[in-house]
Amino acid sequence: MSDVMIMLNKNELPRAWYNIHADLTQPLPPPLHPGTGKPATPEDFAAIFPAPLIEQEVSRQQWIPIPEPVLDIYTMWRPTPLIRARRLEQFLQTPAKIYYKDESVSPAGSHKVNTAVAQAYYNKISGTKRLATETGAGQWGSALSFATQLFGLECVVYMVKVSYEQKPYRRSLMQIWNATIHASPSPQTEVGRKFLEADPQCPGSLGIAISEAIADTVSHAHTKYALGSVLNHVMLHQTVIGLETREQLQRAGDSPDVFVGCVGGGSNFAGLAFPFIFDRNRKKSARFIAVEPSACPTLTKGPYCYDFGDTAQMTPLLKMFTLGHGFVPPGIHAGGLRYHGMAPLVSALYADKLIEAVSYPQTAVFEAAVTFARTEGRIPAPETAHAVRAAIDEAVQCRNRKEAKTIVFNFSGHGFFDLVSYDKYLAGKLDDFSYSEEKINEALRSLPKVNEPA
Ligand SMILES: *Cc1c(COP(=O)(O)O)cnc(C)c1O
Repeated sequence: MSDVMIMLNKNELPRAWYNIHADLTQPLPPPLHPGTGKPATPEDFAAIFPAPLIEQEVSRQQWIPIPEPVLDIYTMWRPTPLIRARRLEQFLQTPAKIYYKDESVSPAGSHKVNTAVAQAYYNKISGTKRLATETGAGQWGSALSFATQLFGLECVVYMVKVSYEQKPYRRSLMQIWNATIHASPSPQTEVGRKFLEADPQCPGSLGIAISEAIADTVSHAHTKYALGSVLNHVMLHQTVIGLETREQLQRAGDSPDVFVGCVGGGSNFAGLAFPFIFDRNRKKSARFIAVEPSACPTLTKGPYCYDFGDTAQMTPLLKMFTLGHGFVPPGIHAGGLRYHGMAPLVSALYADKLIEAVSYPQTAVFEAAVTFARTEGRIPAPETAHAVRAAIDEAVQCRNRKEAKTIVFNFSGHGFFDLVSYDKYLAGKLDDFSYSEEKINEALRSLPKVNEPA
């Protein structure tokens, strides 16, 4: 029996991040200035991001060295294990091999720390004293609180109000790591006050919280903004996941047929998949599957066009698959997947048909999560459970077709802070929100009109 857990040594940590932008046949469509609609310049970003991150955002250099202080922190939990899910395979009676890359072993419990540490580092060396951000389910907020704490930066988090109330323990985690947290919409910012005036009970959304974090950034000295997904530099930092996985699979003597990751803004999927997409050594027939909730079907139902990243239209316009910046997704339990847009890099690959997408309703997702927990032991975050669902379905297809494929999925985070959601599922009280074509069409009508640069 081959090893169930494939580990790398500390000295085998990747020394550089892989920048897929270098290998795209065409550069990405540029971000556009929200006011003028003209391509945004690096100076346009200088108010909210430090210079090194802006440089990475537009870079087409294939490999970008990981700074020594970032590597040093990565060694606190990296390299992460690649695990063969033998008990799940046996339970499914599938001839397929299933591997998962376990990003849940990080201090904050998800892959998000990979970019949080890098962003905190570049801000620190650029003279930033305070970082403002938003968080939905609380995963990003806790990852950034941990990272800023290590570098002695202040951290202020605008947390979507429903999550603030539903996930008190994510809030505790951020407070332990010294962050200041505001339920969004908050009275702290003009945007927040506007939403509160219109509806004091407003549950908030990621789009509103982003607007608040940016408003906070531009109105405070020595403050910058940090985003946990979507942007090119975030995808870049997450490639440590796939680079390690490539080494681990080689060691196991396996070459995958199917790669799977859940997608909110696209970063954990990108982290696993990007190092393989243009890799000449991968199987030519290999497929890359992005998994999203059917309640927020950005890739499977949205158009590919320019849109704002936030509700209040403060961010540059990005060309991406989007459900419209005004779309407020139903309150599914995978809070980290409730975002209207998708990373421009993931969007470009999807438009070029280099990757595929599927969507699932949440009860099917929780069913897969419980099957996984009962066989493999680990309890997936509701976001991660989307990838589990798709990996199981691929393995079941292999059983029906008698195909011994190799499937790899990204175990993006654990669900220890999501047990209330599991309770609801176990009590049969979880609803599937049907995707509302009407609501999406309404949100799509507010898409900005832009003249696309040639
Ligand atoms: C935030 C989060 C996601 C979704 O974000 P991506 O940028 O698409 O990866 C998925 N899984 C977990 C555990 C998360 O915390």
